[in-house]
Amino acid sequence: MLREYVKQYFSQFDVLVISILFVFGFLWLIPDMERIHIWMALAIGMLSYAISEYLIHRFIFHMKPPKVRWLLTMLKRLHYDHHVSPDQLHLLFLPVWYSLPLIIIAGSVAFFITKDFSLMVAFVTGIMGYLLYYEWAHYIAHQPVQPITPWGRWMKKMHLWHHYKNENYWYGVTNPALDVLLGTYKNEKQVKRSSTARNLEQSDMK
Ligand SMILES: [Zn+2]
Ligand SMILES: [Zn+2]
Ligand SMILES: [Zn+2]
Repeated sequence: MLREYVKQYFSQFDVLVISILFVFGFLWLIPDMERIHIWMALAIGMLSYAISEYLIHRFIFHMKPPKVRWLLTMLKRLHYDHHVSPDQLHLLFLPVWYSLPLIIIAGSVAFFITKDFSLMVAFVTGIMGYLLYYEWAHYIAHQPVQPITPWGRWMKKMHLWHHYKNENYWYGVTNPALDVLLGTYKNEKQVKRSSTARNLEQSDMK
Protein backbone atom coordinates (compact mmCIF):
# COMPACT_ATOMS: atom_id res chain seq x y z
CA MET A 1 0.00 0.00 0.00
CA LEU A 2 2.83 2.38 0.84
CA ARG A 3 4.22 1.62 -2.62
CA GLU A 4 1.07 3.01 -4.20
CA TYR A 5 1.47 6.26 -2.29
CA VAL A 6 5.15 6.52 -3.22
CA LYS A 7 4.20 5.95 -6.86
CA GLN A 8 1.44 8.55 -6.81
CA TYR A 9 3.71 11.03 -5.02
CA PHE A 10 6.49 10.79 -7.57
CA SER A 11 4.06 10.94 -10.48
CA GLN A 12 3.12 14.50 -9.50
CA PHE A 13 4.72 16.82 -12.06
CA ASP A 14 5.96 19.36 -9.49
CA VAL A 15 7.42 16.66 -7.23
CA LEU A 16 9.09 14.97 -10.18
CA VAL A 17 10.79 18.17 -11.39
CA ILE A 18 12.19 18.96 -7.93
CA SER A 19 13.26 15.31 -7.44
CA ILE A 20 15.23 15.32 -10.68
CA LEU A 21 16.94 18.60 -9.77
CA PHE A 22 17.66 17.20 -6.30
CA VAL A 23 19.36 14.11 -7.80
CA PHE A 24 21.46 16.31 -10.12
CA GLY A 25 22.48 18.49 -7.18
CA PHE A 26 23.42 15.44 -5.15
CA LEU A 27 25.48 13.93 -8.00
CA TRP A 28 27.28 17.26 -8.46
CA LEU A 29 28.29 17.20 -4.79
CA ILE A 30 29.74 13.67 -4.71
CA PRO A 31 33.35 14.72 -5.58
CA ASP A 32 33.12 17.40 -2.85
CA MET A 33 31.67 15.20 -0.13
CA GLU A 34 34.75 15.32 2.11
CA ARG A 35 34.43 19.09 2.52
CA ILE A 36 32.73 19.75 5.84
CA HIS A 37 31.42 23.06 4.45
CA ILE A 38 29.38 21.17 1.86
CA TRP A 39 27.53 19.35 4.64
CA MET A 40 27.05 22.60 6.52
CA ALA A 41 25.58 24.28 3.43
CA LEU A 42 23.23 21.31 2.94
CA ALA A 43 22.11 21.55 6.56
CA ILE A 44 21.62 25.33 6.33
CA GLY A 45 19.52 24.82 3.19
CA MET A 46 17.31 22.32 4.99
CA LEU A 47 17.00 24.55 8.03
CA SER A 48 16.13 27.55 5.83
CA TYR A 49 13.27 25.61 4.30
CA ALA A 50 12.06 24.34 7.67
CA ILE A 51 11.86 27.96 8.89
CA SER A 52 10.24 29.37 5.74
CA GLU A 53 7.73 26.52 5.76
CA TYR A 54 6.18 28.11 8.84
CA LEU A 55 6.71 31.79 8.00
CA ILE A 56 5.35 31.55 4.44
CA HIS A 57 2.39 29.44 5.52
CA ARG A 58 1.43 31.77 8.34
CA PHE A 59 2.21 35.21 6.94
CA ILE A 60 1.74 34.84 3.18
CA PHE A 61 -0.57 31.88 2.54
CA HIS A 62 -2.90 33.00 5.33
CA MET A 63 -2.85 36.72 4.63
CA LYS A 64 -6.09 38.59 4.04
CA PRO A 65 -7.29 38.18 0.46
CA PRO A 66 -5.46 40.86 -1.56
CA LYS A 67 -7.44 43.27 -3.73
CA VAL A 68 -5.04 42.83 -6.64
CA ARG A 69 -6.64 40.26 -8.92
CA TRP A 70 -3.58 38.24 -10.05
CA LEU A 71 -2.27 38.08 -6.50
CA LEU A 72 -5.59 36.72 -5.31
CA THR A 73 -5.59 34.13 -8.11
CA MET A 74 -2.07 33.12 -7.11
CA LEU A 75 -2.92 32.76 -3.41
CA LYS A 76 -6.03 30.79 -4.23
CA ARG A 77 -3.94 28.26 -6.14
CA LEU A 78 -1.15 28.26 -3.53
CA HIS A 79 -3.31 27.90 -0.43
CA TYR A 80 -6.86 29.29 -0.11
CA ASP A 81 -8.27 26.62 -2.41
CA HIS A 82 -6.34 23.91 -0.59
CA HIS A 83 -8.36 24.79 2.53
CA VAL A 84 -11.59 24.62 0.50
CA SER A 85 -10.70 21.18 -0.95
CA PRO A 86 -7.92 19.66 1.19
CA ASP A 87 -8.12 16.32 -0.63
CA GLN A 88 -7.67 17.69 -4.16
CA LEU A 89 -4.27 16.46 -5.32
CA HIS A 90 -3.80 19.23 -7.87
CA LEU A 91 -4.06 21.83 -5.08
CA LEU A 92 -1.87 19.94 -2.61
CA PHE A 93 1.62 20.33 -4.06
CA LEU A 94 3.51 23.59 -4.44
CA PRO A 95 3.71 24.31 -8.18
CA VAL A 96 7.17 24.74 -9.73
CA TRP A 97 6.24 28.20 -11.06
CA TYR A 98 6.21 29.17 -7.39
CA SER A 99 9.01 27.06 -5.88
CA LEU A 100 11.64 27.26 -8.63
CA PRO A 101 11.95 31.07 -8.77
CA LEU A 102 12.31 31.14 -4.97
CA ILE A 103 14.98 28.42 -5.11
CA ILE A 104 16.84 30.35 -7.83
CA ILE A 105 16.74 33.54 -5.76
CA ALA A 106 17.95 31.67 -2.66
CA GLY A 107 20.74 30.06 -4.70
CA SER A 108 21.81 33.43 -6.14
CA VAL A 109 22.01 34.93 -2.66
CA ALA A 110 24.06 31.92 -1.49
CA PHE A 111 26.44 32.29 -4.45
CA PHE A 112 26.76 36.03 -3.89
CA ILE A 113 27.74 35.40 -0.25
CA THR A 114 30.02 32.37 -0.71
CA LYS A 115 31.36 32.91 -4.29
CA ASP A 116 31.55 29.10 -4.33
CA PHE A 117 29.51 27.17 -6.88
CA SER A 118 29.51 23.86 -4.98
CA LEU A 119 28.44 25.51 -1.73
CA MET A 120 25.58 27.13 -3.61
CA VAL A 121 24.60 23.74 -5.10
CA ALA A 122 24.76 22.19 -1.61
CA PHE A 123 22.53 24.94 -0.21
CA VAL A 124 19.82 24.58 -2.88
CA THR A 125 20.07 20.78 -2.73
CA GLY A 126 19.36 21.05 1.02
CA ILE A 127 16.37 23.28 0.28
CA MET A 128 15.02 20.89 -2.35
CA GLY A 129 15.59 17.84 -0.13
CA TYR A 130 13.62 19.40 2.68
CA LEU A 131 10.95 20.63 0.24
CA LEU A 132 10.47 17.02 -0.92
CA TYR A 133 10.21 15.88 2.69
CA TYR A 134 7.65 18.64 3.35
CA GLU A 135 5.61 17.66 0.27
CA TRP A 136 5.65 14.01 1.33
CA ALA A 137 4.56 14.81 4.90
CA HIS A 138 1.82 17.10 3.58
CA TYR A 139 0.69 14.53 1.02
CA ILE A 140 0.46 11.77 3.64
CA ALA A 141 -1.39 14.13 6.02
CA HIS A 142 -4.17 14.32 3.42
CA GLN A 143 -4.30 10.63 2.48
CA PRO A 144 -6.38 8.03 4.34
CA VAL A 145 -3.29 6.34 5.79
CA GLN A 146 -1.50 6.34 9.15
CA PRO A 147 2.13 7.53 9.06
CA ILE A 148 4.65 4.87 10.15
CA THR A 149 6.48 6.88 12.82
CA PRO A 150 4.94 8.39 15.99
CA TRP A 151 6.39 11.74 14.89
CA GLY A 152 4.64 11.42 11.54
CA ARG A 153 1.34 10.57 13.25
CA TRP A 154 1.67 13.61 15.53
CA MET A 155 2.46 15.95 12.61
CA LYS A 156 -0.48 14.61 10.61
CA LYS A 157 -2.85 15.13 13.53
CA MET A 158 -1.54 18.66 13.96
CA HIS A 159 -2.02 19.51 10.28
CA LEU A 160 -5.56 18.17 10.29
CA TRP A 161 -6.35 20.39 13.30
CA HIS A 162 -5.13 23.32 11.19
CA HIS A 163 -7.57 22.30 8.46
CA TYR A 164 -10.60 21.13 10.41
CA LYS A 165 -10.42 22.81 13.83
CA ASN A 166 -8.85 26.22 13.58
CA GLU A 167 -6.69 27.63 10.78
CA ASN A 168 -5.05 30.18 13.11
CA TYR A 169 -2.93 27.51 14.82
CA TRP A 170 -0.56 24.69 13.85
CA TYR A 171 1.12 26.19 10.78
CA GLY A 172 4.06 23.75 10.87
CA VAL A 173 3.73 20.70 8.62
CA THR A 174 7.00 18.81 9.27
CA ASN A 175 7.71 20.17 12.76
CA PRO A 176 6.02 22.25 15.48
CA ALA A 177 9.15 24.20 16.54
CA LEU A 178 8.06 27.65 15.38
CA ASP A 179 4.45 27.04 16.43
CA VAL A 180 5.71 26.44 19.96
CA LEU A 181 8.12 29.40 19.85
CA LEU A 182 5.63 31.87 18.36
CA GLY A 183 2.55 30.77 20.28
CA THR A 184 0.51 29.06 17.58
CA TYR A 185 0.82 25.64 19.18
CA LYS A 186 -2.12 25.09 21.54
CA ASN A 187 -3.74 22.18 23.28
CA GLU A 188 -6.31 21.19 20.69
CA LYS A 189 -9.07 20.86 23.31
CA GLN A 190 -8.63 24.48 24.39
CA VAL A 191 -9.00 25.88 20.88
CA LYS A 192 -12.42 26.92 19.60
CA ARG A 193 -13.60 25.53 16.30
CA SER A 194 -13.22 28.17 13.60
CA SER A 195 -16.03 28.70 11.10
CA THR A 196 -13.59 29.90 8.43
CA ALA A 197 -11.11 27.00 8.49
CA ARG A 198 -12.45 25.84 5.13
CA ASN A 199 -12.91 29.29 3.66
CA LEU A 200 -9.94 31.58 4.21
CA GLU A 201 -11.27 34.19 1.81
CA GLN A 202 -14.15 34.85 4.16
CA SER A 203 -12.04 35.26 7.29
CA ASP A 204 -11.73 39.04 6.84
CA MET A 205 -15.46 39.64 6.38
CA LYS A 206 -16.36 38.90 9.99
ZN1 LIG B 1 -2.96 20.77 4.06
ZN1 LIG C 1 -0.58 20.28 -10.61
ZN1 LIG D 1 -3.17 26.72 5.93
